[in-house]
Amino acid sequence: MAPKDAAVAATDRWTDPDGFRAPAGLVHAWLRGTNQTLCGVPLSKARLHRFPHVQWVDARPATGRDADEVREVCRRCAAGMGEKRDSRPWTRTNPRP
Ligand SMILES: [Zn+2]
Repeated sequence: MAPKDAAVAATDRWTDPDGFRAPAGLVHAWLRGTNQTLCGVPLSKARLHRFPHVQWVDARPATGRDADEVREVCRRCAAGMGEKRDSRPWTRTNPRP
């Protein structure tokens, strides 16, 4: 089952004109409180930057508002987040019907 509330870890970062720290380069899904990405890359060893304030969906170039500098999305993390190879429009699901 895919995690519902993943944040982002990325190989690079940039700060937009408003001072918002956003991910750049290759992005992974990251669960807050863990020290590795969803696909198992150790954050410190890989020198990844953490973005606890950025939601995974916002770092996806197709859908995200914080993805201007994102060049690549980790496929294993995308798969781990429950995405099909042919991405569909993202729809919100209610965890508690
Ligand atoms: Zn990954």
